[in-house]
Amino acid sequence: MKKLVLDLDETLLYSTLEPVLPESVQLVAAGSTFYTTLRPGAKAFLEEMSRKFECYIWSTGQQVYLESVWNYIDVPGYTLWGREYCRKIETQSGAEPYEKPLRQITEDLSEIVIVDNSPAMFAKCPLNGILSRTWRGDMNDTELTHLRYYLDWLNTQESMQRDHQSWRLETLCLRSK
Ligand SMILES: [Mg+2]
Repeated sequence: MKKLVLDLDETLLYSTLEPVLPESVQLVAAGSTFYTTLRPGAKAFLEEMSRKFECYIWSTGQQVYLESVWNYIDVPGYTLWGREYCRKIETQSGAEPYEKPLRQITEDLSEIVIVDNSPAMFAKCPLNGILSRTWRGDMNDTELTHLRYYLDWLNTQESMQRDHQSWRLETLCLRSK
């Protein structure tokens, strides 16, 4: 089974300290309250992917946050990896101080792909990274629907390593056939 790594924040959901979105739910992690909203189609997407891939949620957030969110999402079959599995990057700005080294999951990079809204997370293995549009609450968003088609197609390929930059456009072409 091929391996799929999914980012959490601004890829699958949006969390804030204040209830800025009407659809948000109130959650608690380590005594702190926060508000989370799922990206449209997230739950169905996660359920479907868990049947097709060996799935990981890999977040730069704390493990307690990750577990609190996952208790709410409640889709089985996911391994949850928090910040302690990320590697710190030395940058001038410090804007994106982490990366997610996929070799911690497998040495065979042909069988793994990551979906993330931060390109820095997969900068060292760009052929394994699918860049998702950052999501902060647009309830008309259709990114996960497109992504589902693309990942289905990618799963049929011998190697999942490729130039994914035009994945959205390629998916539209696949779907129009
Ligand atoms: Mg993110």
